[in-house]
Amino acid sequence: MAVGTAVDLREGLDAGDLSSEALVRAAFDRMRHLEPRLHAILAKDEDRSLRLAQAADARLQAGERSPVLGLPIVLKDNLNWTGLPASCGSRVLDGYQAPYDATVVARLVRAGAIPVGKANMDEFAMGSSGEYSAFGPARNPWDTGRVPGGSSSGSVVSVAAGYAPLALGSDTGGSVRLPASFCNVTALRPTYGVLSRFGLTAMASSLDQVGPIAASAADVVLALGVMAGQDPLDSTSSDLPGVERLAAFRPKGLKGLRIGLPSEYFAEGLEPGVRSLLEESLRVFAGEGAEIREVSLPHTRYAIDTYYLICTSEVSSNLSRFDGVRYGHRARGGNLPAMIAESRDEGLGAEVKRRILLGTFCLTKGYYDAFYLKARKARALIARDFERAFEFVDVLATPVSPGVAFPFGAKTDDPMAMYLADAFTVTAPLAGLPCLSMPAGFTAGLPAGIQLIGPAFSDVMLLETAHAYQLLTTHHLETPPLSA
Ligand code: GLN
Repeated sequence: MAVGTAVDLREGLDAGDLSSEALVRAAFDRMRHLEPRLHAILAKDEDRSLRLAQAADARLQAGERSPVLGLPIVLKDNLNWTGLPASCGSRVLDGYQAPYDATVVARLVRAGAIPVGKANMDEFAMGSSGEYSAFGPARNPWDTGRVPGGSSSGSVVSVAAGYAPLALGSDTGGSVRLPASFCNVTALRPTYGVLSRFGLTAMASSLDQVGPIAASAADVVLALGVMAGQDPLDSTSSDLPGVERLAAFRPKGLKGLRIGLPSEYFAEGLEPGVRSLLEESLRVFAGEGAEIREVSLPHTRYAIDTYYLICTSEVSSNLSRFDGVRYGHRARGGNLPAMIAESRDEGLGAEVKRRILLGTFCLTKGYYDAFYLKARKARALIARDFERAFEFVDVLATPVSPGVAFPFGAKTDDPMAMYLADAFTVTAPLAGLPCLSMPAGFTAGLPAGIQLIGPAFSDVMLLETAHAYQLLTTHHLETPPLSA
């Protein structure tokens, strides 16, 4: 049995037609059938999940009602859940077990959500395809010869394949939105700070955000409301304005909504099939009275360079903690420096090493001004582009990726080609803005998403807009042809 959408399951649980225990058992049954093909899950503790489900059922029977109570959820393996591994898709964390809960996980579990698995991912969230997982890639349920997108590969596959109605990923430069587009699900990257990063293993701290993933915007809302808000354990966290609107979630009226199309995102390189899906989606918005306007974000052409300079610089610093002393894999090496060097050499994959080297170089005295500082300046210009655009429009609509899910191996030999898959997803994070990816239809049998970007802290409006679109369309209801 496929697990249904979060909103449907919520109704079933509240009406007493379903039990959390049955849902969790169904999730594990489905994994048993499909994991040999999909490889989305790296770790799970079935007994513990079942105990939590029974406790949720008791709360439901006692009359408690809350958005995620009893719902299964899959967690990206860079989010800590006490007692389970948090491998981050890396060998360097072999044997590590999380000693505490990430704040977002603690809030979900307290509200009665049931984690049912830790999801496969690109190593330390570096990647766009899922292929940089040290444990082998997750596969796209729409075509298992193709990548599911990354880095939150397993989280997105878990929702698309019906293991769980909800999943958490993380998004530094596109890692929930890109796979959502490749696998036909909905994923939000909130405004920087709306979700606590405490207990999320850092990749690039000024960019990292946790992102909820589900079939629809209405489903995403169930998890977001429970997790959002200031956390004393993350000094960059903040409350979400309008969070109360999530409890009585309504679609946004589209009449008069000013939608901006950044001309730079519709330039060459965009696959024609993806372009026509976007045009169709825009006709849906326009048909309801939205005004479509062209806008310009002129510094977009610096986005990939800027992102990869800032990201790698922060990576080089954040990943220095994996030294064989404090966590995970330890090499045999003789003296301490040799042991540290060998532990890192043996434990880390090629892409992670590439980024550590590049980032360390960018931060070196003499190169800092030429690379890192310049990237910071470009970042400010990119953010200013968005500010100017939002003087004229309420929301921006763009492609998520230039193309659809690509075959395994298509970009692994060429890091630059892999980085270019992120051309449309790295800009909003550089500006700290909320953005989401939602299904826009199919081209040659493969799904593609449309991205909405809003001003800072407009997360609720973005979801209301996506909800309005999803009430008018059925793309997000299509599920992959998997027989369990
Ligand atoms: N694909 C981008 C990268 O490799 C984004 C990754 C992410 O958002 N975690 O950096």
